[in-house]
Amino acid sequence: MEDCIFCKIVKGEIPCSKIYEDDKILAFLDINPVHKGHTLVIPKEHYEGIVDMPDDTLGELAKVAKKISKAVKKATDVDGFNIIQNNGVDAGQDVFHFHLHIIPRLKGDGLGRWPHQKFPEEEMKEIQEAIIKSIE
Ligand code: 5GP
Ligand code: ZN
Repeated sequence: MEDCIFCKIVKGEIPCSKIYEDDKILAFLDINPVHKGHTLVIPKEHYEGIVDMPDDTLGELAKVAKKISKAVKKATDVDGFNIIQNNGVDAGQDVFHFHLHIIPRLKGDGLGRWPHQKFPEEEMKEIQEAIIKSIE
């Protein structure tokens, strides 16, 4: 896609700190890392979010993400890391070319956890049924 910054990285028009490449997948350091070693894994083809990804490419990407996660963990010597993939503006997606974040986490780094909520049983049942019905 012409205006996409990650497509430009794939084409070599914009430099990146490359970590891994094969025929379908590219991994490189995030330019504004949460912590040192924060890595992005992307498909070389342009897809906006997870629901747009063909299953085989997503499968390949998951395998690469596992391999690179192990390397990031070893190289940064952390115990924990987050894998995050934002879909849509409301979820914090800034770059609309699928990318999976591998973010090393440090003990006491203050980034915290997701906030949690409780909903009444009836609402939980309602949403459970709605999601099940929506599976294609
Ligand atoms: P999002 O918020 O869309 O999930 O994450 C986009 C990520 O891409 C951000 O963490 C941002 O720092 C990173 N990013 C944006 N532009 C570039 C770039 O030109 N090069 C690299 N390496 N990372 C980028
Ligand atoms: Zn793109």
